[in-house]
Amino acid sequence: MVKVKFPDGTVKEFEDKTTVEDVAKSISTSLAKKAVAGRYNGELIDYNAELNEDGQIEIVTKDSKEGLQVLWQTAALVLGASLFELYPQMKFGEGTVVEHGFFFDTDNENGQVAEADFEKIAYRMQELIKSGIEVERLELDEKEALAMVDGDAYRMELVKESVVSGKVVLHKLGRFVDVSKGAYLQKISSLKVFKLLSVAGAYWKGISSNPMLQRVYGTAFYKQKDLDAELLRRQEARERDHRVIGNDLDLFFVDPEVGAGLPYWMPNGATIRRTIERYIIDKEVSRGYEHVYTPILANLNLYKQSGHWDHYREDMFPPMDMGDGELLELRPMNCPSHIQVYNHHIRSYRDLPLRIAELGMMHRYEKSGALTGLSRVREMTLNDGHTFVTPDQIESEFKRTLQLMVSVYDDFNITDYRFRLSYRDPKNTHKYFDDDEMWEKSQKMLKSAMDDLGLEYFEAEGEAAFYGPKLDVQTKTALGGEETLSTIQLDFLLPEKFDLHYVGADGQEHRPVMIHRGIVSTMERFTAYLTEMYKGAFPTWLSPKQVTIIPVKNDLHLAYCEELRDRLVANNIRVSIDERNEKMGYKIRQAQVTKIPYVLVVGDQEVTTNEVSVRRYSEKETVNMAKDKFMNEILADISSYSRE
Ligand code: ATP
Ligand code: ZN
Repeated sequence: MVKVKFPDGTVKEFEDKTTVEDVAKSISTSLAKKAVAGRYNGELIDYNAELNEDGQIEIVTKDSKEGLQVLWQTAALVLGASLFELYPQMKFGEGTVVEHGFFFDTDNENGQVAEADFEKIAYRMQELIKSGIEVERLELDEKEALAMVDGDAYRMELVKESVVSGKVVLHKLGRFVDVSKGAYLQKISSLKVFKLLSVAGAYWKGISSNPMLQRVYGTAFYKQKDLDAELLRRQEARERDHRVIGNDLDLFFVDPEVGAGLPYWMPNGATIRRTIERYIIDKEVSRGYEHVYTPILANLNLYKQSGHWDHYREDMFPPMDMGDGELLELRPMNCPSHIQVYNHHIRSYRDLPLRIAELGMMHRYEKSGALTGLSRVREMTLNDGHTFVTPDQIESEFKRTLQLMVSVYDDFNITDYRFRLSYRDPKNTHKYFDDDEMWEKSQKMLKSAMDDLGLEYFEAEGEAAFYGPKLDVQTKTALGGEETLSTIQLDFLLPEKFDLHYVGADGQEHRPVMIHRGIVSTMERFTAYLTEMYKGAFPTWLSPKQVTIIPVKNDLHLAYCEELRDRLVANNIRVSIDERNEKMGYKIRQAQVTKIPYVLVVGDQEVTTNEVSVRRYSEKETVNMAKDKFMNEILADISSYSRE
């Protein structure tokens, strides 16, 4: 007999070999109708799996998130089985559930799967579903399981990893044997609505020295309307996706053959970036920051002293052996560099707060699977700053930094964000820098600063850095995920590690506190974020091209256009003339597609009256106005971002 505990706390006894299905039926037939799997002792298991030990059960129904995962796992299996029939030589990695669907990893020597094959594959999947075959659940010992997938090195490796107490659970559909983990539907007829979405390369086990497999993605639902909603959501996300827009507007590219996660900024993207860089530097200078340039390479010892080599090594590039005993390291963070700047002089309390800032380039060896366009890269330039303060100055400096942040957000019109105040985990204080009084005091201080400024926030215990509490700004990405854009972090540890001092009013040496802060994040992530937020329609001050001038007839109107262009250029406006031999309507549409804020059309009338015909992006109407008036308007528009 096995003892099974239900969510309401009651315990019932069942015969040996009882399945999840038996348990569901014992509760009610209506529950059994909706049930598709079970969660037993925390693990998602098949509906027909036997309960061989005492435990706690939850019945998983169709209408839950997990119910959908069971459908996706099954869809992956049906995909695998169909591919296996179509390509008998194909080898298989894992087939599994992801956030909004499923994938199967495949490798086919005689030609990899491509999106062009989707119709054929989906047809085969439908045939399988209609055939009435069911998923078989097999529990075998290792040797038997290996024999089932003989000749497929990937699946054999997966079998070896899945042995639990000498047994391996496999799922079989027709002749195809799947070694992936998860719970599956027995009747694949529930899988009526599905869609294959894309194919992308993925290294076996995510390790770049391993072979590249082809990952086939898809999604599935129990109801057509849910699939329609998901496809619409994807379409909208795609329209915002900075990688798509980045390509359409020629902002940047990444070529994995040349270097994954190492972006190239094309002139349009570089213009946006330069505008952001100038903006933030000016803003910081006006708030008392002093900018420096420091090297991206340093002796490895610097990162040994800072602790990065001990705690952050996984994310660092391997050191460069210079052959003469020197090891040089690409920096993963700029903090140690700014500490060198601090330490270059003897500092007195009168120098503090000392605000050192830099657009600091850093390198982090992010996992290849995590790399995304510009938002997660391996070489990045952070809008970094470190303020060195006396303990008394922490609160006022924290407030100043916050005010700077809020002002910057206003200028970019960023409104959809949340402040997260991150504390240490009170149950695991040993995991943090050891100074209880400091933690209590500084956490309270950050909270009261937020309250004083009347800012809303949520508190997150256990999210603090090892070295101190912090404030993060969480923003939403186009794909619905959350991402940290800005951050302010207190640090009591690095000043100790580098034995930093200042001479106090009492003539004695004291230890400063460091505040790390990034306002607009890395140039890479911020540009990605803005591209998605504006959907590529950048406000005029950020737009790579601000004006395009279209002559109605080149031979008659070009001279007027050139004079106009020169005047705009003299006012630092980014403008060009579209003198291609194309129809005017086509040129106007092109300007719309590339989201240029102003289109000026010049024909006989404009030349005679000394005017321009102005059409703003996203407005249907064209307005005629004197050249001077236009000049004033666009200059006012360009400077309108600043609310100070
Ligand atoms: P994440 O959790 O996103 O990896 P982190 O906590 O390691 O970031 P910090 O060391 O605080 O980040 O870096 C400062 C900022 O740099 C982050 O808030 C983020 O906006 C940005 N950033 C971090 N890693 C990357 C990356 N790989 N590509 C682009 N920007 C990044
Ligand atoms: Zn730092």
